[in-house]
Amino acid sequence: MRVFSGIQPTGAIHIGNYLGAIKQFLALQEKAECVFSIVDLHAITIPYQPKELQKNILDAAVCYLAAGVNPEKSILFIQSSVKEHTELAWLLGTLCPIGDLLRMTQYKEKSKEFKETAGAGILNYPILMAADILLYKTDVVPVGKDQKQHVELTRTITRRFNKLFGKTFIEPEVKLLKAGAKIMALNNPRKKMSKSVPESCLYLFDEPDIIKKKIMSAVTDPGKQIKYDEIQKPGISNLLTIYSLFSGKTIKEVEKKFKNANYEKFKKSLAELLIDSLEPFRRKRKELLVREVYVKEILEQGRKKAQIIAQSTLQEVRQKMGLS
Ligand code: ATP
Ligand code: MG
Repeated sequence: MRVFSGIQPTGAIHIGNYLGAIKQFLALQEKAECVFSIVDLHAITIPYQPKELQKNILDAAVCYLAAGVNPEKSILFIQSSVKEHTELAWLLGTLCPIGDLLRMTQYKEKSKEFKETAGAGILNYPILMAADILLYKTDVVPVGKDQKQHVELTRTITRRFNKLFGKTFIEPEVKLLKAGAKIMALNNPRKKMSKSVPESCLYLFDEPDIIKKKIMSAVTDPGKQIKYDEIQKPGISNLLTIYSLFSGKTIKEVEKKFKNANYEKFKKSLAELLIDSLEPFRRKRKELLVREVYVKEILEQGRKKAQIIAQSTLQEVRQKMGLS
């Protein structure tokens, strides 16, 4: 079984990235062939600072490793270092229905958010993502819920390709977690936590005082009860989900534990839980930050391994499409 997933070097990773995606990576790397990419070509579809991109890419690598991705078990590499991604994206773009691109939620949201600067990259993002996935003949794509639509579009492209050029790819399956697939923003529990909205994030590597401050000021709902109700109490429900996932207790057990508590008491306890749970990640990240040569070597080894698979797939695709 082959697994592919990516993370954009658009900033430090947050607990949503961890609970929705990276936690799955850690389980999957124990039993499948995993390919994880720092998707820099996706990251440049929104405004960015060229001078900072290299630093952000390295930072993303440190984040992956500190969160537990094991380079001896998984391939970890930078997307743009394997040129086959862009070539396959062009080829697949010729098969992708334009209407499908226009109805993608991420396109609608990001083109609105970056109205003045939005380029075609925001629209074509899912085509490049399809190329990322298919280049490794992927079976399973572990992601957060926001990316489900893009994997479904990859399946549409796969079917079209196979129909026109002969069976080449299997339709990749999206893998979501039952709980954690959509962690909501701390400043607005009706929107997802996103790296591109710093106020929304609790970062995996936030220091204890910052964790406390962010949790205590997280937006909650009218009322007093600590009760899970996504419609009426999206803020408390999100915090209950986070509590449950980091404590290993069910939501019901957490509700029971805080039956007589108010929001403040619950938040204090959640902040303490997070400070403790995230301590190993902070420590590991600090260790890795001073080992730049080691991290770069991991990425170079990853590039070599990824490229072997990518070149072989692209060669097959070129032949099937009549290009060589
Ligand atoms: P950006 O705002 O730059 O798009 P992001 O926070 O969405 O950043 P990505 O790098 O785009 O992060 O996504 C990395 C992985 O994390 C993807 O699998 C994505 O589905 C998942 N993910 C992102 N946000 C959340 C969230 N709030 N809850 C659960 N999973 C998430
Ligand atoms: Mg995203």
